Amino acid sequence: MATNGLLIDYEYCTHCGSCEVSCKEEHGYPVGKGGIKVLGDGPWKIDEDTWNWNWYPLPTDLCDLCADRTAKGKEPICAHHCLSSIIKYGEVEELAKELARKPKQFLIVPQYKPLEARGQFVHVDKGTEHRAAHMDISGTGEATFGAHRHDAKVGDYETEA
Ligand code: SF4
Ligand code: SF4
Repeated sequence: MATNGLLIDYEYCTHCGSCEVSCKEEHGYPVGKGGIKVLGDGPWKIDEDTWNWNWYPLPTDLCDLCADRTAKGKEPICAHHCLSSIIKYGEVEELAKELARKPKQFLIVPQYKPLEARGQFVHVDKGTEHRAAHMDISGTGEATFGAHRHDAKVGDYETEA
């Protein structure tokens, strides 16, 4: 069976945000989570007339390549709504040929992680004390915040914000 992925011609990304919003809406992801994130590099000056400023729309581990849509023969919702038409879904072998023809793109095969996907936001601080902030959103839309901490003397404990 062919492996599918996304070819993203980031050279023409305008950071409009349509891919992020449409992905989030399609999958019902909570605040702060999404299947694609647009990262920026710049602006920084090269010379008097030239600036460097790139945007990188990067699929995350929450990208399932729009499995429900693509199973019906539709393109992923991010590709559908990209105002610059720079996201292409297809077989990796075919996309690689396009990449060879035009550089300054990237080709990615996201690896979906559904268990980490919903309702939990974890950041681990690598200190002597291990901390993890979390955000839980219930079906009512109510959000609670808190922190899980580990202390060598006290052990594990929770705080609510
Ligand atoms: S392919 Fe689908 S799941 Fe992946 S980033 Fe695009 S909209 Fe999100
Ligand atoms: S929708 Fe297209 S142009 Fe807009 S931020 Fe996403 S990749 Fe870039």
